[in-house]
Order: sequence, then C-alpha cells, then structure tokens
Amino acid sequence: MAPSHALRCCKRALNWVPVLFINLVVAWSYYAYVVELCVYTIPKTNNAERISYLVIFHIFFAMFIWSYWKTIWSKPASPSTAFALPRAEKELYEKEQRAEVQQEILKKVARNLPVYTCTAGGAIRYCNFCQVIKPDRCHHCSSCEKCVLKMDHHCPWVNNCVGFSNYKFFILFLAYATLYCAVICATVVQYFVKFWTKLLPDTHAKFHILFLFFVAALFFISIVSLYSYHMWLVGKNRTTIEAFRAPVFANGPDKNGFSLGIKRNIADVFGEEAKYWIFPVFSSQGDGHSFVTRLVHIDPEQANSVLQQNGKIPVAGETNLSMVADDEPHTEGKSKEKTDGGQMVAVTMDSEP
Ligand SMILES: [Zn+2]
Ligand SMILES: [Zn+2]
Repeated sequence: MAPSHALRCCKRALNWVPVLFINLVVAWSYYAYVVELCVYTIPKTNNAERISYLVIFHIFFAMFIWSYWKTIWSKPASPSTAFALPRAEKELYEKEQRAEVQQEILKKVARNLPVYTCTAGGAIRYCNFCQVIKPDRCHHCSSCEKCVLKMDHHCPWVNNCVGFSNYKFFILFLAYATLYCAVICATVVQYFVKFWTKLLPDTHAKFHILFLFFVAALFFISIVSLYSYHMWLVGKNRTTIEAFRAPVFANGPDKNGFSLGIKRNIADVFGEEAKYWIFPVFSSQGDGHSFVTRLVHIDPEQANSVLQQNGKIPVAGETNLSMVADDEPHTEGKSKEKTDGGQMVAVTMDSEP
C-alpha cells in the first residue's frame, strides 16, 4: 500500500472518532436512563411513573437517532453535469493561460446557467478541483473533496457536509438532541437531588444518575445555543458560510440576497407541508442548483408595488427598477427558467422583504 494511500485511510478512520464518541455517550445515556433509573432507582410502587418516563424517553430517543442517522448518511449533493464545461470549452479553457480569456469562456457557458453570484472580484465562480461552474450557494469542501450544493459547513460530529441534501435533517438532529437532553434533565432531577442529599442509599445507580444529569445538562446548554443560531439562519435564509461572507451578486454583496421573508425562508428548508416538518424526511424546496434571489423574477407591476411599499418610488410611475435583462451576464435562460414568462427585474431593497 502506498504511504499516501495509507495516510488517507488513517485520516478517514480518524474522522469517525467524534461520531463514535457521540454514539458511545448516547448508548451509555440509554443504559443509564432505562436500566439504572427506570429499572433500579424508580420504586416498584411507582409503575405509572416508570412507564410514562420510558414512553416519553423512547419517543425522543427514536426521533433523535433517526435524524442523526439521516444527517450522517445523506450523501452531500454535488452540482449536476450541466455545470461542467462542454468538451470544446473545456479544452479551450485548459489550453488557455490568460485568466481573462478563461473568464470569457466561463462567462459564455454560465450565460445558460441559473447562476447569479460571483466572486468578490466579479468573476464566475469555478472549481478547478471538480471542474464545474459553482452553482449559487455551492462551495468546495476540502474534507469531502467535492463541491457541495448549498453548503452550510462540514460538521465533524456527523463526519459529513451539512448542505442542501441534509440541512433539514441537521436542524432536526439539533432539535431532537436538545429535547432528548431536556427530557433526561427534567425527569432525572428529582432522583439527582435525592442521591445528592442522601435521601436515597449509595448504590451503583448513584454514579450513573448523577453523571447522567450533569452530562445531559452540559449537552443541553451547548446544543440549544447552536440550534437557536441555526433557526435564526433558517429565518434569514442564510447558510453559515454566507453569515460569515455575504454572497456577491451583480450589484455587490448582499447578505440577505436569498431572503424571501420568514415564511418562505422556513418553507425553503422544511417544505410547504407542515406535516413533514417534524420528521427527518426530505422536504426542502428546489433542486439545490438554483435559488430565488432578492434580484427577483417578478413582473414590473409587482416590483413597483414592492418599491412603493418601501418608499423607493412615487406611486405615479417613474420606475426606479434597473432592468438587467440584456447587459447582465447571467440573465438569459435564467429568466426563462424561473419566471414563467415574467420579466427579470432587479429590485434594490434596504429592508428585509
Ligand atoms: Zn469542487
Ligand atoms: Zn464536507
């Protein structure tokens, strides 16, 4: 085996250590709760309490494991072949040494793609490693060694990229992990106090119950803050990457570029049908390749009323809208794709739509 290959295998195996750690903690917490608390500690006379604890615990345990499992094993979605350069352009691109001519080739191809964002310098975002034009919100992950659609971040605790294919599962994993810890804390606390104040005798269960409460409380505090942060991001339709570096559109960086109002932002990740929201089944909207932006495709009338509401233009008419149909590099085809015949209009808004 070549040394570099062995090193790679080693690194891959090491990447599973945090996942293994979480699994061991969860397995131990299951044993401590079910066996040490429900079997050994809760008095035989309190059968109703024991059964209700076991039922509630198992519901949250199952939802937590289900969403964790789906976050780990959902393959990160990569750009489709439509974003790769056609053979002729690819050959030209590879032969070409001058960056500006390479950009021209990319621009020509990107014209037929639903791409609205560019680099800070205004260039087409191209991944040399994967040899694709990066769709909006797509980033190359050096750990996964591929481009990941709507990449949020690479999470070591699930040893996977969190992105378009599993962002909903990740949010649910955080939600159910928080609830799992909350259920443990709320039900264990009275026995914790009894052991602590020596109202219950020192048995082998004591160590597990005391430790279970501490660990659950610690995890609860750290996960609830991460969960709140991600729910805030969902409300803003922003990925973690975009929260640190605003996506750049034709008219400059706009951290709210993909925000369409809180209701639509939530639907973007969780889907339109509320019945699927609490289950880790895929219900996010779109295909991860193109996103509706605040450079919205709406008909001019609608845009007028939005601008009037924002006090940007007088009701009587002179429009302030900048039509970006012909001179903007990525519009052709996009408007056909997303507008259903509507005209592409750039709407500059200061506040959240
Ligand atoms: Zn890539
Ligand atoms: Zn990754």
